Amino acid sequence: MGIFKSCLGLPGGQGTESSGAAKLPRAAGGHDHSAQPPQQQGKSSRNGAGAAHQIFQISSFLPSDTPLMELDASIQKLNGRPLRVTLAREMLPFKLVYHDGYDLNLGPHVFPSQKYRLIRETLLREGLAAPEDFIAPEPASDDDVRLVHSQEYVRKLRTGTLSPLEELRMEIPFSEATRDAFWLAAGGSILAGRLALADGFAANLGGGFHHAFREHGEGFCMINDVAVAVRRLQKDGAIRTAMIVDTDVHQGNGTAGIFGGDGDVFTFSIHQEHNYPMPKPPSTVDVHLPDRVGDDDYLAILEKHLAQAVHDFHPDIVFYVGGADPYREDQLGGLGLTIAGLKRRDRLVFEHARRRSIPVAITLAGGYARRLEDTVRIHVNTILAAAEAARVEAAAPSA
Ligand SMILES: [Zn+2]
Repeated sequence: MGIFKSCLGLPGGQGTESSGAAKLPRAAGGHDHSAQPPQQQGKSSRNGAGAAHQIFQISSFLPSDTPLMELDASIQKLNGRPLRVTLAREMLPFKLVYHDGYDLNLGPHVFPSQKYRLIRETLLREGLAAPEDFIAPEPASDDDVRLVHSQEYVRKLRTGTLSPLEELRMEIPFSEATRDAFWLAAGGSILAGRLALADGFAANLGGGFHHAFREHGEGFCMINDVAVAVRRLQKDGAIRTAMIVDTDVHQGNGTAGIFGGDGDVFTFSIHQEHNYPMPKPPSTVDVHLPDRVGDDDYLAILEKHLAQAVHDFHPDIVFYVGGADPYREDQLGGLGLTIAGLKRRDRLVFEHARRRSIPVAITLAGGYARRLEDTVRIHVNTILAAAEAARVEAAAPSA
């Protein structure tokens, strides 16, 4: 890991494509100033007229652990004249899957589906991610969705012919735009799974619709994107086994129902016992928590059960369903975690996987904090926790 992005400023207007880039490879995708965090853009503009800048991905010609002083000297040597090097930030060591179409367009609703866009904007504004870190997914195909959901249910969704009762149970109004957003989210989770297998981590800034069953949707969930992703990766031969680690405050009933009896998919759900859904179909492991559990108790219980689960079952991939709703200020949750505690929760899950070299594909799931910015912050922290865990040395592959 340790790919650095630098802002290279050549005095006297020499830092142009023809001078700097002639010897330094441009990163794929063609970076420009928009790739820099805002504070770095400010610094660049203060360098005065004539000081042109380019951003280069320099990992391809220097060892990733090159000290900064050596890095500076190497670039000077490469260019043969004085050169200023400003380290902008360490690149996010995995990709973020996102599409503007993730917004479910629900209008006034307790589910704040504008959060997806706000999470992306926050990551960019705070310099935690750059535009090139994001990849837009294709919608899942109907064939992909039918790997999990019944032909009849998919037909109803495709033709907009759910009964009023079915729509009521889903707790969100049906529209074609909303349906298309779920298809996109499922495509996003498939893509995140593929990227995680390649890079160790990936995050879908959406998805985690764990209340959707084979034959019906409920609890704001139309189709189960994580289940679709698992089945598609299995169909492709990319994985045989998967573990779904679900830390949303609500039990992952749809996921449990879909994979019940399937020895290749381990479903782990840690949730508030006295909350929706009722009843709770059994996951492989269900950890039922009492009301108002706080950070330390929660983390100790999660640690114990997760350690046992990954000891018993070493999956080819973990799909993480990282709900923001165990937060103590959540309107639909009754646990007592803080924002800092939730980040520790995420990090704990990621490090368990990392230590065992298990790829992790992240999805977001629920979050209904009184203040929308808290929900956004909790999800942003999930990405930060993954970035921190990704930099922990992975265990050598077991023989
Ligand atoms: Zn939830």
